[in-house]
Amino acid sequence: MRIEDISSFVPPVRTLMGPGPSDVHPRISLALARPTIGHLDPAFVGMMDEIKVMLQYAFQTKNELTIPVSAPGSAGMEACFVNLVEPGDKVIVCQNGVFGGRMKENVERIGGIAVMVEDMWGHVVDPNKLEEALKANPDAKIVAFVHAETSTGAQSDAKTLCEIARQHDCLTIVDAVTSVGGTPVKVDEWGIDAIYSGTQKCLSCTPGLSPVSFSERAIEKIKSRKTSVQSWFLDLNLVMGYWGGNAKRAYHHTAPINPLYGLHEALLILKEEGIENAWARHQRNHLALRAGLEAMGLSFIVLEEHRLPQLNAVTIPDGVDEAEVRSRLLQDYDLEIGAGLGSLAGKVWRIGLMGYASNMKNVMYCLGALDAILTDMNAAINQGAALDAVKTA
Ligand SMILES: *Cc1c(COP(=O)(O)O)cnc(C)c1O
Repeated sequence: MRIEDISSFVPPVRTLMGPGPSDVHPRISLALARPTIGHLDPAFVGMMDEIKVMLQYAFQTKNELTIPVSAPGSAGMEACFVNLVEPGDKVIVCQNGVFGGRMKENVERIGGIAVMVEDMWGHVVDPNKLEEALKANPDAKIVAFVHAETSTGAQSDAKTLCEIARQHDCLTIVDAVTSVGGTPVKVDEWGIDAIYSGTQKCLSCTPGLSPVSFSERAIEKIKSRKTSVQSWFLDLNLVMGYWGGNAKRAYHHTAPINPLYGLHEALLILKEEGIENAWARHQRNHLALRAGLEAMGLSFIVLEEHRLPQLNAVTIPDGVDEAEVRSRLLQDYDLEIGAGLGSLAGKVWRIGLMGYASNMKNVMYCLGALDAILTDMNAAINQGAALDAVKTA
């Protein structure tokens, strides 16, 4: 590559139906292009306060400490762990997919002890196994689990898992990166202590920010730490001075000004639709996609009662080169769907219907394109059945 040959980067226009990022709402793209102002400008500070109020709505919480971390979902995960876990602390980590494995990494890098509760990929976290682990480890301080496992499309029962954790005097850390905006997340009602999400999944925003929320109990724990938080950037004691409500804002880092305009618009769109309506829309479009995929002959790997409406993991027809299908979808239809991760690599497709991308146009487009490609490849599917099935679903 010669530097002389480089010109402006103009990306192709795609339809994003993978595990994230998802299609960005055009209103958000416009918001991102608004003029950059100073991060201590009173106009900007006012917008930060509005973001906090709308994030409380998205998380269904009154938690004062509800802010976007200036980095992607993985940093929100890390913010929860580095602030709540101290060296030597025992943490029960439930794993039923890729992201629980990252929680374990976080605990161990902090010098904590991770006790794993494992369930098969595609299954939900088993509350009985959590209960057993807590009985066997009465010194455990925290329970961590993924609410919406994007690697498999399984939705665990966060309410029950948090209840069990509380009965054993543990704080909870919940990964809701894929759930917020797409399926019910009720931080206060369920008694979640620390939760993190992401902007690029069901909030239809660009990647790079991670909304988080911490309960009073979690804040107490952070304030009574014996050791300092190992990460300077993610130390909430410092971040609170920047995002805090009343006190004068102290410079911590420069907020990502324009991405926050995007998040503000994304949350406003969610509020305008009404969060319950957004959840219902995700469910409706999931059922339509399901009717088409099943009529085609594909099957879901997650039991019906545990499925996430925004992430559909389905089997691949025998003898089909799944990577070729995805690359033809991208080349011929500008359509992105996801591959399997980890133990599901090569075995499933992951079709996202997240946020703005969860609509009937995308459902029909994806089914039509898959049907055309698989028919052309002579795959063992019920050719031409998918779209009809949606119409009569
Ligand atoms: C996408 C995702 C993450 C990571 O978010 P990034 O923004 O990619 O860092 C974490 N957990 C789950 C469940 C996710 O789906």
